[in-house]
Amino acid sequence: MATIELTITLKGPLHVGGNLAAARDIVPFARDARGRPCIPTTTLKGLHRAATEQVAIALGLKVCHSPVLSQMCHPINSETGCVVCRIFGSAWLPGQVFYHDLVLTAAVLTETRVAAPQSRRRQVRIERHATRREIVPGPLTLTGRIDHLIHDPALLGLALAGLRAITAIGGHSATGYGLCTIEARAIDSLKRPVDEASLAAALRQLLRETP
Ligand SMILES: [Zn+2]
Repeated sequence: MATIELTITLKGPLHVGGNLAAARDIVPFARDARGRPCIPTTTLKGLHRAATEQVAIALGLKVCHSPVLSQMCHPINSETGCVVCRIFGSAWLPGQVFYHDLVLTAAVLTETRVAAPQSRRRQVRIERHATRREIVPGPLTLTGRIDHLIHDPALLGLALAGLRAITAIGGHSATGYGLCTIEARAIDSLKRPVDEASLAAALRQLLRETP
């Protein structure tokens, strides 16, 4: 299997919300099965898909309307899905990318922020206004990898462009949490770096073929 190596450089603190049921007065950080703070696979996949969709749209490629199931690609016979579904899958197409939890080795801190004064009266929204949350302080550099079975170099180029377009991870990016840059490098199944120029050329060819 081929891989994409990731280096995520966080410019400041990170908050990825975990299981709220676990602690009622603190918004916990997401954790893996062993209780270690992590960026879960679902978070990474969601970010990667959304960013790749935006890149594809900006390039003029047609994409379906995820996550609305009825409007997602459902190819029949010789049809193919849109470029995004061919990478990430739909209910009818297998995805070609396989994520791992990104485990954080940095210590988790509990941060207390001054609450909006109305938060105690507005019971239903109280968790959104919670004043205490677990964060991982930044700046911080993380490495990880994504395995994939993408054979089409144009789609691999698009998947890399999607990763590089991600600028924030987790909640509260409006207040400066999780702001990041991501470096992504494709490594083939023989562990050799993939030639970026050939990916770019394949992507340009795909764009030329797109009506
Ligand atoms: Zn699609």
